[in-house]
Amino acid sequence: MKRAVFLDRDGTINVEKDYLFEVKDFEFIPGATEAIRLLNGAGYFVVVVSNQSGVARGYYTEEDVELLHRHIADELQKSGARVDAWMFCPHHPDGRGSYSLPCSCRKPLPGMLLEAAHRHDIDLRGSVMVGDKLADIAAGMSAGCRTFLVRTGYGADQESLVSSSTEVYDDLLAAVKTLLQPLHPV
Ligand SMILES: [Mg+2]
Ligand SMILES: [Zn+2]
Repeated sequence: MKRAVFLDRDGTINVEKDYLFEVKDFEFIPGATEAIRLLNGAGYFVVVVSNQSGVARGYYTEEDVELLHRHIADELQKSGARVDAWMFCPHHPDGRGSYSLPCSCRKPLPGMLLEAAHRHDIDLRGSVMVGDKLADIAAGMSAGCRTFLVRTGYGADQESLVSSSTEVYDDLLAAVKTLLQPLHPV
C-alpha cells in the first residue's frame, strides 16, 4: 500500500482567491512546488482534494477546474514536481440542479480521501492531510490520517479552533520538511 499526502488546493498550494478558476489568477504559495517535489522524492503519493463549490454555484464549470489543474500540473512539471491524482468536489447544497444533491465528497466529509484510497491502494493510517481550514482537518481525521494545518490561506484564522492532535505549520514547505525529517517523533 502507498502512503499519501492529501493536499487541499486553495490556500495550501496556491494563494487563496475567492472562486479562483482562471489560469491568469493562479499563484503558487512560495515553497509549494519544492514541497511537492520533496514529497515525490520521498515516495509519497500526492493527491489534491479540493472543494470547488463554484461549479455548483455556476461561477465556472468542471472543465474550467480541469483546465486549471492541467496548468498547475504543467507548472509543477517545470520544477520537477508532480501531483499523482487530482480530485475535486463540484457540489454544494445551494447549487444548481444535480450539483445540489447531498454528496459524500465535500469536505469536511472524507469521501475524496476514501475514494482515492480505494482507487490507488493508499494506507490512510500512514497518510497525512494538509489544509488551511477546519473542513480539511475534519476530512483528514475522519479518514484516519495525520492532520496538518498550514497558516497560509485561512489557516492563521483557524489555528485556535483545531485540537492539539493537529500539527500547525507556517506553510506547506515547513509542514513537509517536518514530515520528512527522519527522526521526527511520531
Ligand atoms: Mg483551502
Ligand atoms: Zn461532492
